[in-house]
Amino acid sequence: MTELLYNAYNPQQFRQQGHLLIDLLADYLQNIDKQPVINWKEPKEQLKLWETDAEQINEDVLPFFNMVLADSIHLHHKKYMGHQVSPSAPLAALSSLLSAFLNNGMAVYEMGATSSALEKIVAAIFCKAIGYTEKAGGFLTSGGTLANLTALLCARQICGSNDTWHEGNQEKLAIMVSEEAHYCIDRAARIMGLGTEGIIKVPADKNFVMQTDLLENLLEAAKKEGKKVFAIVGSACSTSTGSYDNLSEIANFAEKHQIWLHIDGAHGGAAVFSEKYKYLLKGVERANSIAIDCHKMLMVPSITTALLFKDEDDSYLTFAQKAQYLWDNADEKEWHNYGKRTFECTKLMMSIKVYSLIRTYGIQIFDDFVTTLYDLGKTFASMILANKNFELATEPSANIVCFSLKVANFTQEQLNRHNSLIRKKIIEKGDFYIVQTTIRGKIYLRTTLMNPFTTEKELGELLYQVENILL
Ligand SMILES: *Cc1c(COP(=O)(O)O)cnc(C)c1O
Repeated sequence: MTELLYNAYNPQQFRQQGHLLIDLLADYLQNIDKQPVINWKEPKEQLKLWETDAEQINEDVLPFFNMVLADSIHLHHKKYMGHQVSPSAPLAALSSLLSAFLNNGMAVYEMGATSSALEKIVAAIFCKAIGYTEKAGGFLTSGGTLANLTALLCARQICGSNDTWHEGNQEKLAIMVSEEAHYCIDRAARIMGLGTEGIIKVPADKNFVMQTDLLENLLEAAKKEGKKVFAIVGSACSTSTGSYDNLSEIANFAEKHQIWLHIDGAHGGAAVFSEKYKYLLKGVERANSIAIDCHKMLMVPSITTALLFKDEDDSYLTFAQKAQYLWDNADEKEWHNYGKRTFECTKLMMSIKVYSLIRTYGIQIFDDFVTTLYDLGKTFASMILANKNFELATEPSANIVCFSLKVANFTQEQLNRHNSLIRKKIIEKGDFYIVQTTIRGKIYLRTTLMNPFTTEKELGELLYQVENILL
């Protein structure tokens, strides 16, 4: 045993470092709003800082922890209103530590017995909230991007024209998706070899919702071009503006033509837990599959995504592949050997993060989180509407609110430049974190209200800063 190895696994040292870190994080959480939400540095400057740090080996971990905290963006800050990642619930973060420490790899049952059982329970809780029947089930996977790809692979195997897994794409396959969908759907289609031709973009209306009345004609046109449409993807909700597609209408279409319906609920699928807002997902229980990110609207540390299937048996067909060294009975539908159904081989013990919240607070915690933030989105929108200097991209359904500052006599190009500059200045100042998005040629300031501690006070301060930062 070398001394280095001995030290690296020394329980006393771990205890001491662990206490240090927990105390540091508790203080961080307590005082989070007393510092800027982001301490902006140019990438070059940030790299320089760390290159200097990397010149030494140092047994004292405290400066390292502090440095990481200092220049990381603070999601628990009331003025964090940017990308759609949860401020992780402390308990779920602690469970992540448990997962990281145990490092059970999950691909086969004995490499994660506990987390496998919990994964089945967590999936069942999600299926119930969705309104699926007993036949439903699913698993957890590494992100919405991967969940959407996995669902589409399954869709192709079931609704495609041949056994693609073994024979490759033998026909011109295509999927239908709103032009407002997340880019990962487009990417998934290309990974699957569908090419540009295989992605049929359905135009969205003025509220960025898929125009379902166009579906029949688009399908007809696709057939004429010799394409086989095997899947349609509904967004619940879209990333840019938080717009929910009409899932019932899409389900009518999909059922009529026996096309797989997948719902990308990475952000807004979590609203199935909200008594007040689950109406937005009306019809979701008719979808063949749905992806819901837990690291977005369910307070869980990245990266944890639930992929649920209306008929759990379908999920075993995605990877019709044999891996004899892992499973001696590769064809059997064994729920407990998760690697049979997930893209990942080794996987995080994701379920314990989600389960820790459910076990401690009940699923009511998810309702509280989603409902609070969606309510806040409406509040913010009404504040924006009340100020004639602002324009709202669309009335928000979720906690994603896009708006821009209007300036009399400016052309659209000047307005775009102006709003973009405002956002840049805001980030450099660091009081708030917001993002921007381009929608139909217009640049909007985009906020996702991710922090349930944010109030009208901070929202008012943001609007004030947007109006005044360039003056
Ligand atoms: C965030 C998002 C994704 C991507 O999910 P990741 O977990 O970041 O991979 C996909 N679709 C929608 C609608 C999203 O909002």
